[in-house]
Amino acid sequence: MKFVSTRGQTEPHSFSDAVRIGLAPDGGLFVPESLPDLSGEISYWEGLSYPELCYEFYKHFATDIPGDELKEIIHRSYANFDHEQHAPLVRLEEGLHLLELFHGPTLAFKDFALQLVGNLYERQVTVRDEPITVLGATSGDTGAAAISGLLGKKGVNIFIMYPDGGRVSPLQERQMTCTQDENVFPLAVSGNFDDAQAVLKEVLGDSEFSSSLKMSAVNSINIARGLAQCVYYLFAWLKFPAGEREEITFAVPTGNFGNVLSGWMVSRMGMRVAGFRVATNQNDILYRFFSSGDYSLGEVRPSYAPSMDIQVASNFERFIYYAFNENSEKTRKTMLQFKSEKAFQVDDSSILSIMSSTRMTDGEIKAAMSEVYEKYNYVVDPHTACGFKELEGLKNVVLLSTAHPAKFPDVVRQTIGVNAIHPRLEALKDIEETKYSISPDADEIKSFIASQTESMQV
Ligand SMILES: *Cc1c(COP(=O)(O)O)cnc(C)c1O
Repeated sequence: MKFVSTRGQTEPHSFSDAVRIGLAPDGGLFVPESLPDLSGEISYWEGLSYPELCYEFYKHFATDIPGDELKEIIHRSYANFDHEQHAPLVRLEEGLHLLELFHGPTLAFKDFALQLVGNLYERQVTVRDEPITVLGATSGDTGAAAISGLLGKKGVNIFIMYPDGGRVSPLQERQMTCTQDENVFPLAVSGNFDDAQAVLKEVLGDSEFSSSLKMSAVNSINIARGLAQCVYYLFAWLKFPAGEREEITFAVPTGNFGNVLSGWMVSRMGMRVAGFRVATNQNDILYRFFSSGDYSLGEVRPSYAPSMDIQVASNFERFIYYAFNENSEKTRKTMLQFKSEKAFQVDDSSILSIMSSTRMTDGEIKAAMSEVYEKYNYVVDPHTACGFKELEGLKNVVLLSTAHPAKFPDVVRQTIGVNAIHPRLEALKDIEETKYSISPDADEIKSFIASQTESMQV
């Protein structure tokens, strides 16, 4: 399987190269050259364990990695989840289920992708016999999950920038700063997430610098992440009796549009379902798109669900590409228009009806957390809470629970009076933090990175 760009101006790449490069050189996102039709195979996958299922799915894409090796990498990637099911399906009531995706090392769904990506990077270091420098910017969960996935990997240095003293919760920060690992450099950037993101782009944009250090960006547009996330949709779908699977609606708390896009891609490969629900917080660009066709940039307003405080959904370009019937020219023009005008409109109702959508204010998030607690005696985190809207009339809802409530103890306590704790997070409180305060200045950051990587060898 080769991977092509949504903008059509990059030659096809192997899986491993697409993963290493991240963003396609023409500015587009990598997608499989063609999506396999899995409808014949899927039903035979019933009863497989999570890693077994992941292998059956992933081998269609990672075709440049020998099967035995891929299998071993996948099994190792999911070995340190703390639930034997990895992604348990919890029934709240008839027709309403939660898919708990927070049993990985950092307690958010991003572990499903980043544990695997960490091992794929490590393999690249060995195969190519050269060290790599991984760079990322985070508003919380991605940084923690990426660091955990790359912890202790030989030949990999990881630099994660996050806004200092702002939106990253103290526990999320500790997940990044308390690893006691020599190859991890948490950079507390003065400013907000957009400042961190902008300076990251600037550093990566210096192609001489970034190629000399073999830099790779670990962000949500990496195709390896998107494909890894497909697996838990299949896993959940296969838990239902065959006759009920086509009634399933997946409701997905959404920010960068990576998670829900993965599910939709599996449906295009033959996993038949009733639909997908995009659940946003008050940062509602995707809600506005699916309800009225208007994709126009708004201001980011901090909410109780910070990992969804995003206005430009980086993975949306893949959706546009498929919705336009893989027309890369039309995709390219649309994305360039968005870049210059900060908006585009779609009036084709067949595209807008591909997914339904809802949005929640902060007040509604708290109300949903309370209601779920009262009704089901179950504690949801504020991101997951966003999914509990307008579910009436849907037959078999599978709501993706994206984070453990203990990651957001303050809002949980304020709202329902429960102390949400997790032993792994408690343990972090006794460890000394290592972090580097830095200003959002590309030159300063580049010289810091250069000085730290100088001595690194494979
Ligand atoms: C990242 C994240 C989301 C949003 O996922 P996207 O793939 O960006 O749509 C939702 N909830 C939590 C807890 C997250 O960490």
